[in-house]
Amino acid sequence: MLRSKLKVVIELVLPERCLVCGRFGASIHPECLDELPRADGVRCVRCWAPSSVSELGALCDRCAEHDQPEGLDALRTSFRFAGIARRSIIEAKFRGVTTLFEPLSSALVNEVQWSWQPDVVVPIPLAAARRRRRGFNQSERIAERLAEAHGLPLRLDLLERARETDAQATLDAEQRQQNIRGAFVARDVAGLRVLLIDDVTTTGATLNEAARVLRAAGAMRVFGLAIARED
Ligand SMILES: [Zn+2]
Ligand SMILES: [Zn+2]
Repeated sequence: MLRSKLKVVIELVLPERCLVCGRFGASIHPECLDELPRADGVRCVRCWAPSSVSELGALCDRCAEHDQPEGLDALRTSFRFAGIARRSIIEAKFRGVTTLFEPLSSALVNEVQWSWQPDVVVPIPLAAARRRRRGFNQSERIAERLAEAHGLPLRLDLLERARETDAQATLDAEQRQQNIRGAFVARDVAGLRVLLIDDVTTTGATLNEAARVLRAAGAMRVFGLAIARED
């Protein structure tokens, strides 16, 4: 307790140091964002998985099996969850260096595709107990920035956590899907094009389950954004 109070005091007194270059003045300088590993290369236009199909704008083999997406219509991330991108997200989320959300989210602003035309921005909700323990919801922090940049309403009332789930990190793809099933409830989304926000995505299980629930509640389209994807 005392240690964490001390940390807060130190952070208030000392100027910020850039996580990339170590110079003072920002949690990450705008120009230092270029050092983070981009989610580049050829990727599936729907699920954003690195694709062996060499053609740009193509679906991966898995997505090509379904005419209609069951979850997200499309997903984009700025970075790969590796190197300094991974470190920044961990520092922001688990060590409370929340000023990092600003530069990380600003990188996401341009990932909104022209064809998406979203009506609302919706963060992946945390269960109330977890949100209290952490003091914030990381997805909400990112969503605030996206909503502001695109002049869209941030809606925290459309998607709720129905139950707490085990942390996804140690689970394999199938377990993740089972673990997250039934974790969300959606309301009042009929006819809306939703921009759904998470911090990190691995198999896409969380975003796709939330998208499935939003779709079942009448959402017209659901597009996903996350800062980083674990390839
Ligand atoms: Zn820097
Ligand atoms: Zn795909």
